[in-house]
Amino acid sequence: MARPIHAFIHPHALRHNLARVQEAAPDARVWAVVKAHAYGHGVARAFEGLRAADGFAVLDLHEAQTLRDLDWRGPILLLEGVFEQRDLELCSRLDLWHVVHNEAQIDMLSRHKTQVPQRIFLKMNSGMNRLGFAPERFRSAWARLNALPQVDEISLLTHFAHADDAVGVAQQLQVFQATSHDLPGERSLANSAAVLRHGDNPLVLGDWVRPGIALYGSSPDHPLHSAADWGLRPAMSLRSQVIGVQQLQAGDEVGYGGIFTAPHAMRLGVVACGYADGYPRHAPNGTPVLVSGVRTQTVGRVSMDMLCVDLTHLPHAHLGSEVTLWGQASTGEVLSIDEVAWAAGTVGYELMCALAPRVPVTSLGLAA
Ligand SMILES: *Cc1c(COP(=O)(O)O)cnc(C)c1O
Repeated sequence: MARPIHAFIHPHALRHNLARVQEAAPDARVWAVVKAHAYGHGVARAFEGLRAADGFAVLDLHEAQTLRDLDWRGPILLLEGVFEQRDLELCSRLDLWHVVHNEAQIDMLSRHKTQVPQRIFLKMNSGMNRLGFAPERFRSAWARLNALPQVDEISLLTHFAHADDAVGVAQQLQVFQATSHDLPGERSLANSAAVLRHGDNPLVLGDWVRPGIALYGSSPDHPLHSAADWGLRPAMSLRSQVIGVQQLQAGDEVGYGGIFTAPHAMRLGVVACGYADGYPRHAPNGTPVLVSGVRTQTVGRVSMDMLCVDLTHLPHAHLGSEVTLWGQASTGEVLSIDEVAWAAGTVGYELMCALAPRVPVTSLGLAA
């Protein structure tokens, strides 16, 4: 029999979360961000739940190829643009729109031989200091692009550093507006946090929003707001089973390093899930977990293939009981990936992206 760990993808939840974003940005079109293997969900599986999006935003050309292979004929945006000259051939072949964030990409475009001009999203560094043209270089970059026969329409794009925290987006928005207000073209500024937290400002929403994490049912600003607060449902459930049960006496230790000592007699469940499955090794004692849909917590150090959970208050739990590491139990109870991430000192993004290749994944399908 196969090891019982399994990840389930919920296309219904993806569809619901996309509808939530569309509700929050009713006048904008939506780029569903499916970079990083659709945040660990798989591009093809995510596509099933996200086909109502207006376009898909990717990082890698192979993700774009996957979408075209799935017969997606609509817009696809390369979020970091091309990395080398020959990428432009594929942009032409696959009809991709691409971000331009530096002069080298404009040089490549100027050398590109194409009959069909390309749609560009010109990126401004409005203060995050990652990718993009500084405000004082932005307009000359725009003019350079605008003069190229290889370029069709130019849209304007920037990315916020503080959409998810108390600093907010006002400062970067002001820079973006001051630099670009009189340039033509569509605008794209908002990630999930900006849509959900700052969507009351139409300038933040622009023409295209770029949600990623919200589509997958994780809150961009946990613990300030939970996914449930935002009306989002988990799109990934990581489930396994109890494969061992131990009776502990007070003073007994659990696992490597004995970082947990039983304060009293306890019943312990050993679960087939470890850091080699993508569960965070830094999850401390007390990280929440569901056993048969009932909340309990981890005990001791997470090891490569196993972790332990407290079954003391779950007398009905037994060998083979379902364990939900995050997402939805088969009985319907939800443990948000954000709670697990928070306990482990990270974010839901990292956990979903880190789902290990050895974990089998099944999409529960829209028909279900
Ligand atoms: C990843 C990414 C997004 C999506 O961000 P979320 O926080 O997941 O909504 C949007 N825009 C750009 C440029 C990105 O790289």
